[in-house]
Amino acid sequence: MVIDLHTHSTASDGTDTPEQLVQAAAAAGVDVLAITDHDTTAGWDPAEAALPAGLTLVQGTEFSCAWFGPNRRIGLHLLGYLYDRDDAELREARARLRESRLHRGEAIVNNLIGAGYPITWEQVTDISAGGAVGRPHIGRALVESGVVPDVGAAFADLLSPFSPYYVRNYDQDVFDMIRLVRNAGGVTVFAHPRARRRGQVVADEVIAEMAAVGLDGLEIDHPDLAPEDRADLRVLADQFDLVRTGSSDYHGTNKPIRLAAETTTHDQYEALLSRRNTAVAPIVLTT
Ligand code: AMP
Ligand code: FE
Ligand code: FE
Ligand code: ZN
Repeated sequence: MVIDLHTHSTASDGTDTPEQLVQAAAAAGVDVLAITDHDTTAGWDPAEAALPAGLTLVQGTEFSCAWFGPNRRIGLHLLGYLYDRDDAELREARARLRESRLHRGEAIVNNLIGAGYPITWEQVTDISAGGAVGRPHIGRALVESGVVPDVGAAFADLLSPFSPYYVRNYDQDVFDMIRLVRNAGGVTVFAHPRARRRGQVVADEVIAEMAAVGLDGLEIDHPDLAPEDRADLRVLADQFDLVRTGSSDYHGTNKPIRLAAETTTHDQYEALLSRRNTAVAPIVLTT
């Protein structure tokens, strides 16, 4: 069974519509696909409506979070799966995160415009087209305007967290978010822990604390993780009884990674599902 538990559509910063995403997954031989757009559930219904025969859909969201230490903060992403999307607190959290993405995106664009780069905010919102705004949309505007050859080049320099034009996002406290998703019946997986080129990564003690408040898994097989880090994370997963997932983090043409470039084993997928509160959570959709 081919199981890919982390992908993006045009509901956030992917380039396939949710319909195209499920079709591409079926064509790539995927059996179980999670749609996990940033801070939104907008892709769930269109993906479900277009679900090809034989494909199972797992509804998820990649939440923008941070660990707030004594005198620093480290941004991180938390995957929430199969939670009740009508849960009021989570609804508010998603709306707040998307709202902040708008302001923060505009602030980055204004910084770039101030430095003389020929892009506009309208160009970026045309590209994001109602989806949750992210830096890849700004990257595409920079490509469109001929500033950089591709989105990857924009991330290497102008859009990197080390760039003078960078503005960070408002992020939800990760421990709160784990509790919120859990209360809404869902399960959580720490996305790409130790993805070092995205910025600072949290210490193992933070993962221990996340496990203590109810984290269910670690996304260990991810294109951004080095072999040594994956090996360390496997030890941590054993130690804290966490599920080990693998996923592509597919973004369509915004990134070179292909669907199912990394996958989750069937037993780990089942272990993740078994940790849901099925009295609250939505069902897994199978055709
Ligand atoms: P943001 O959510 O606005 O902070 O932007 C981060 C998003 O950009 C993540 O979803 C990543 O998948 C994406 N991203 C990070 N690095 C790159 C890269 N080198 N090329 C394309 N997309 C990237
Ligand atoms: Fe993304
Ligand atoms: Fe992420
Ligand atoms: Zn992602």
